Amino acid sequence: MSTKVSPGVENQVYHGGDMKVFSPLDTMRHSAAHIMASAVLEMFPDAKFAYGPPIENGFYYDFELPRSLTPEDFPEIEKRMRRLIESGEPFVREEISRERALEMFADQPYKVETINLLPENETISIYTVGPFTDLCRGPHVENSGRIGPVKLLSLAAAYWRGDENRPQLQRLYATAWPTQGELDEYLWRLEEARKRDHRKIGKDLDLFMVSEQVGGGLVLWLPKGATIRRELENFIVRAEQRAGYKHVYTPHIGKIDLYKTSGHWQHYRDSMYSPIEVEEEEYILRPMNCPHHIVAYKHGLHSYRELPIRLAELGTVYRYEKSGELTGMSRVRGFTINDAHIFCRPDQLREEFVRVVELIQELYHAVGFRDYVYRVSLRDPADTEKYVGGDEMWAVAEDAIRDALDSIGAEYVEAVGEAAFYGPKLDVMVRDVLGREFAASTNQVDLYLPEAFELEYVDADGSRKRPAMIHRAPIGSLERFFAFLTEQHAGAFPVWLSPVQAVVIPIADRHTEYAEEVAANLRGEDIRVEVDARSERMQHKIREAQLQKVPYMLVVGDREREAGAAAVRLRSGEDLKAQPISEVLRMITKDIKERR
Ligand SMILES: [Zn+2]
Ligand SMILES: [Zn+2]
Repeated sequence: MSTKVSPGVENQVYHGGDMKVFSPLDTMRHSAAHIMASAVLEMFPDAKFAYGPPIENGFYYDFELPRSLTPEDFPEIEKRMRRLIESGEPFVREEISRERALEMFADQPYKVETINLLPENETISIYTVGPFTDLCRGPHVENSGRIGPVKLLSLAAAYWRGDENRPQLQRLYATAWPTQGELDEYLWRLEEARKRDHRKIGKDLDLFMVSEQVGGGLVLWLPKGATIRRELENFIVRAEQRAGYKHVYTPHIGKIDLYKTSGHWQHYRDSMYSPIEVEEEEYILRPMNCPHHIVAYKHGLHSYRELPIRLAELGTVYRYEKSGELTGMSRVRGFTINDAHIFCRPDQLREEFVRVVELIQELYHAVGFRDYVYRVSLRDPADTEKYVGGDEMWAVAEDAIRDALDSIGAEYVEAVGEAAFYGPKLDVMVRDVLGREFAASTNQVDLYLPEAFELEYVDADGSRKRPAMIHRAPIGSLERFFAFLTEQHAGAFPVWLSPVQAVVIPIADRHTEYAEEVAANLRGEDIRVEVDARSERMQHKIREAQLQKVPYMLVVGDREREAGAAAVRLRSGEDLKAQPISEVLRMITKDIKERR
């Protein structure tokens, strides 16, 4: 469930401008928000009401109450809501004058403010269901009996109109579904999401930490998490090397002029940190790696025959996120992108773009992403403030992406207004085990930065030409990818990524020497192995290794020692009985090699 407080009021139900169109499910949930407000009013006659919009998978209402609600209040509120739902009260709409509205809601300061914000000619409507009347544009269900099973979920603090200088309200989150079965399914998904939460697993398995002493949103990768990251990095770098990329290392800061030339300073400043002054020059913690790679490209004069030049880096960047929005590894202030910039001739653009899509597909296959869709993110031509470059440049870049995708028969949806400030992009949206969607990869065409930095190559006839650029990040940031993998596998990483791939468990002290011998054998094959030589009971050690999600547990006692074997148990609980050490080695190395 989300306890994140939305920054604005874009979802509010009564306001001029673009109200989003409610789906039938939104309408039902928003109607349930009225019912929830009504129940709260019964309990707190002095309650002040703000907004109660539907959101993804549910709804909320913001209240000002004489005391703080706690989850102990939920059963009482739910009971009252159910009574109102069962009564099948109609939602009655009435249109009233502004004067009448101000009079009716005189003791509701947030409603008064809302009324005063409505444009002159706006029709003002109120809806009454049972004892509760709310200022609302609707729509609602016909009567409360049409509202499905409801469940209160959580509480959060929220500022009135998202403004931290305005009063702090209590936001009560809830959900409603057409049937009990769908509600149960959703609650199961929430519970599963809680169990799989990478912040919880990261702590249980000692993978990473975030410390207030270091700073919010700044991740410390602990040895086990760092092992997983190193494996991922090696895997990515090798795949890129095979695909013709050359890797570079560049610094995390750069002079401010670099970002003025690139346009980041003008168009991306909200996500950047203040400049650092060094010997009267200003430096910026880089929010993107592009300018450094561009300067690296300019190191020499390139002939048309050298192109494409593909410069890659696991490049660390820093972006400002509000402290309230920081979340484990998925919303952080410093992160590492599996980045690359491809400099190519315009006639190579389509093929290069397709090659990136193929690389994305290859990586996805290897890490088990099966459920994904392509989204082409375009500029919003009406929003001239947000984007650089002219219409023609955008048309060429946008068509290049469509062409490339069409040439391989890929299906895609288009999203207007989601482009980067310098160019359109392909976003690959991945769905996780719980059905949540996020943009995992991006592949962007850029004709602007080559212009801004006056990039050149020498063409066949000796003339100087502008190359085109592609920015791409097949797995996005290592941090977010790691959060995804952790939740996808619930901490039971595939063997190749597991920080400890096998633990050898001697049954008694006298078996420790043999256990060390077995471990040395595995280590010789680059298998990450530990010996649990503590004088705990064997069952206890097995249980602990299972909790740590170690894929292989190798138990050794007298019989195993005599046979040169180990009793193999898997973290799933499966017992493979005694296996010769050569067979154990074969099994584990096969799993690693096949990335199972
Ligand atoms: Zn309403
Ligand atoms: Zn870039």
